[in-house]
Amino acid sequence: MTEIERHTSKGMLPLDTKIPWLTGLQQSLNDAIETDRLGHAVLIQVDPGLGGEWLATWLAARLFCSAPSATKPCGTCLDCRRVVSDEQPDLMRLSPIEESKEIRIDQVREMAAELALTGHGRGRKIAVITPAERLNRNAANALLKTLEEPAGSSLLLLVTGEPSRLPATVQSRCARVGISVPPIEELEDWLRARAGNGIDWKAVMSAIGPRPFLALQAEAEAIADLQRETARALDQVASGALDPVETAEAWGKEDFALRINCIENWLVTRIRDWATGKRQAQAEALFAALDDAREARQWAETPINKPLALERLLWRLNAIATSRRPA
Ligand SMILES: [Zn+2]
Repeated sequence: MTEIERHTSKGMLPLDTKIPWLTGLQQSLNDAIETDRLGHAVLIQVDPGLGGEWLATWLAARLFCSAPSATKPCGTCLDCRRVVSDEQPDLMRLSPIEESKEIRIDQVREMAAELALTGHGRGRKIAVITPAERLNRNAANALLKTLEEPAGSSLLLLVTGEPSRLPATVQSRCARVGISVPPIEELEDWLRARAGNGIDWKAVMSAIGPRPFLALQAEAEAIADLQRETARALDQVASGALDPVETAEAWGKEDFALRINCIENWLVTRIRDWATGKRQAQAEALFAALDDAREARQWAETPINKPLALERLLWRLNAIATSRRPA
């Protein structure tokens, strides 16, 4: 389990949720359904945490719904409710199995066999693969066979933020829809409207990235606190008021990946602030620290000695304090 997942709980937003950055895609998908252009495979390019899986579920409901309007599933019929509660027998979901981080060939084979059977309801079968870039090489090859010879009225929905990590042969056999990341203010507004003003959503997204769906499920307050605490401590290290070794020791213990996000955000902000002012010379040290942070990020999932990685970064900041002291 990754850190952010540890901070989150499961839950699916209702089908009628208004998600401004996805409405254009919903419209295109509706048009494709109305004009019978949906095909057998759609690649949905949406960055993680922006609702790609929700959109795939919405589309499945739109297709399974027994009383859909031209623009949306009804949300209340048995078919819609089954999609939402994941009890729709003709809807399959493929995701990495627990610890493996990969979608494997046996999962794809099982899905292909299932797609070849006749559906329970009106005959359609849908499989949602998310995040699709986690298909390993063998699994992607097996999927290619299904894409080349699609069964009956089956529909494959591949959700990914990184389509380029899929083989070109897989990409080329899918219709593609997608969005770019919306402005952070739009995401903040949406989060405030959904979950209230009580939480510093900007700080939350600083820590976890522009991922409003994740922000909603996360322990948002704890994450916002972490972001603020990190920023305060970094200011203190850079002014010589906090010891790099002790700080690194404490930070290496838990929430390492989140902490690195917070550190990167602080560095990027300070670089912007200092690059044009009288602290220009010191901004150099920040660039070096940013390289350290990006390197440390790669160690987040490994058993490497994390305090040591952070220590180097913090000493660079501490050196700024030393260089500022009058001789
Ligand atoms: Zn319905």
